[in-house]
Amino acid sequence: MKGFLNRLRGVERDIIQQPVDDAAGAPYYEAQKNEVEIFEAAYKKRLPVMLKGPTGCGKTRFLEYMAWRLKRPLVTVSCHEDLTSSDLVGRFLLEGEATVWQDGPLTRAVKAGAICYLDEIVEARTDSTVIIHPLTDHRRQLPLEKKGQEIEAHEDFMLVISYNPGYQTVLKDLKPSTKQRFIGINFDYPREEIERKIIQNEVPELDTTQVEKLVATGRRARTLKDHGLEEATSTRALVYAGNMMVAGIEPVEACKAALVNPVTDDPELAEALMEIIKAHF
Ligand code: ADP
Repeated sequence: MKGFLNRLRGVERDIIQQPVDDAAGAPYYEAQKNEVEIFEAAYKKRLPVMLKGPTGCGKTRFLEYMAWRLKRPLVTVSCHEDLTSSDLVGRFLLEGEATVWQDGPLTRAVKAGAICYLDEIVEARTDSTVIIHPLTDHRRQLPLEKKGQEIEAHEDFMLVISYNPGYQTVLKDLKPSTKQRFIGINFDYPREEIERKIIQNEVPELDTTQVEKLVATGRRARTLKDHGLEEATSTRALVYAGNMMVAGIEPVEACKAALVNPVTDDPELAEALMEIIKAHF
């Protein structure tokens, strides 16, 4: 019971509120290519979208920005291996003597005409991926099996999933029949000049030279990806390093804490990353 309640709370925590309807509230997003245009076209035709790319490269920020731009509420669910279709759709709960139905985040999004973002859907149980099928084609319906109901999606509803190609294995991947239901937008770490802009904007107190050094360090560190590093240095990690620096931590230590310690336990890889950092700072 406790596990169940925690799981439910976990899902509830992931709901992000309505976007703010003014320019001042726009989430900061630096476009990489034509992703804004592609997403808008998909939204216009109510086609579901898959955001593909490594972690920390801007997928979530992009979607927050798009939700703001399209003036739609955003419901985000971080998927995990225990996430079942009931966590998404809803379930009957005991309230005193009575059982009451409680909508899950996906059902609420479907009814409200929100954008529902299933982050890392591949982590969830297979029944969760199957449940979205009728929502992704012309039917635009969500089956509430336990209630014996099918609900029609609100005309503004949109489904978005994220997918990290680096994490997939033969055992854990989306079925081709699921994948081909989506418009795919590929993301990667931003180009050098764009990444500089991002870091500068995210950590305004950091001086330009430090921003340049940080971005150069990140780019060099990414070349270690093929030498055993599971995930390359992300833009998010560079933003963290910048924040540690402006919080008063000396640059090499800040980079070690943000770019090395969290990503590897291998002493040789850590050493290789440290050499790159020391060569820049
Ligand atoms: P993902 O969802 O791909 O794991 P996020 O969207 O959470 O990554 O991005 C991580 C952080 O990197 C953001 O919080 C933001 O600080 C920064 N970031 C990455 N790309 C961009 C971008 N294109 N525009 C603005 N910020 C970005």
